[in-house]
Amino acid sequence: MTDSTKESTKEFTLERDCELRFEIESKTQIIVELKSGFAELYGTELVKAKKYTFIQGAKVAIFSYQGCVLVIKGTPDVCYIARETPMIQYLNTHSAIEQMREKADERGTTGPVTLVVGPTDVGKSTLCRILLNYAVRLGHRPIYADIDVGQGSISIPGTICSLLIERPAHIEEGFSQLAPLVIHFGHKAPDFNNELYKICVSTLADITMERLKEDKRTQSSGVIINTCGWVKGQGYQHLLHATKAFKAGIILVLDQERLYNELLRDVDSSVKVVFLPKSGGVVERSQQARAESRDFRIREYFYGSRSPLYPHSIDIKWADMKVYKIGAPSLPDSCMPLGMKAADNMTKPWPIQPGPQLLHHILALSFAENVEQDVLKKNIWGFVCVTNVDVERQTITVLSPQPRPLPNTVMLLSELQFIDSH
Ligand code: ADP
Repeated sequence: MTDSTKESTKEFTLERDCELRFEIESKTQIIVELKSGFAELYGTELVKAKKYTFIQGAKVAIFSYQGCVLVIKGTPDVCYIARETPMIQYLNTHSAIEQMREKADERGTTGPVTLVVGPTDVGKSTLCRILLNYAVRLGHRPIYADIDVGQGSISIPGTICSLLIERPAHIEEGFSQLAPLVIHFGHKAPDFNNELYKICVSTLADITMERLKEDKRTQSSGVIINTCGWVKGQGYQHLLHATKAFKAGIILVLDQERLYNELLRDVDSSVKVVFLPKSGGVVERSQQARAESRDFRIREYFYGSRSPLYPHSIDIKWADMKVYKIGAPSLPDSCMPLGMKAADNMTKPWPIQPGPQLLHHILALSFAENVEQDVLKKNIWGFVCVTNVDVERQTITVLSPQPRPLPNTVMLLSELQFIDSH
């Protein structure tokens, strides 16, 4: 990493309702300090005189409602002040949701359940982060659910998850990931197994809505749900399904008027559908950038990012493993046993004989101890990655964040792979 922080130090004065945007593409780091005034990063307030470090890949917007002075050390690849931002609309949206939380609190009912939808790269995850941060800053404890299997912001790709949010996101690292509820899907996009995706979303919704009721403050705080950027055809059907599964009362549609109108037409009239513009700062990512980001998230799971983790290497005998894959390749209905449809095939656990085909694959460790327990309805304990397969000794070696012993549970094979280059 080059020490570009010595190279330049620049002061930026932000007027009211403006934001400083910067991107770091090269192997460098940028240090940001708030000198005076008030500023926030995606809803988290910056502390005055504290140094925040951003590294390669960061796409940052520091917004100020009142105006501020920021000191930037280092040279970002892109850096400018934007005067046009949708932040006031986002703040108004938060205020409307806030009123619903207050009502829910008074009446002892469930708070607002909000679905954030829109095509890829319109700032859905960022809007969720802003709304969640504003909620916790007012003392709420909302749940964040993320059903984007490819670019989700909780756990690793190939899963959908929910997380209780108790404090604002860390400026550099995002929300604390303590004890997320994780459901295994096993692919990087819903269309690899649409039937299974629907079941996963229903399961996540059921467990999340149950957990919501466990705490009065969480119940009135409600849920914010981030979704996939696949909004056409079956992708659109998935959005309708998620709306019903979570019983969402609000849908925030980012950027696409067509999607907004379709949802207005198709969802129950009690659901409030709101159109919001996307921020001009949201950066489009290429297919390659998406693949890199998936890889990064898996690496982060095992090795950490800013605070390093030291994963363990563990040998497991094939004979001691119970590996299953959910969904077999689809057959025409005419080839299925009597009374079974091809769709059933796609949502059943199929036993997998351990062998070289597991190399580099992620295995999800289910809370189900055996396959007779409904593995589709169980959440995930953690993940391992297969780093070696020894055919002679009939063992595999896995990378695991946890030392031995691993729980003796069902392992679910993910299509996602990770090549451990450490
Ligand atoms: P989506 O969830 O719709 O795919 P994201 O919220 O992940 O989109 O945003 C895509 C990228 O744009 C992220 O890296 C995010 O940090 C960045 N981004 C979001 N809002 C802004 C903004 N106002 N200025 C600069 N970058 C932004």
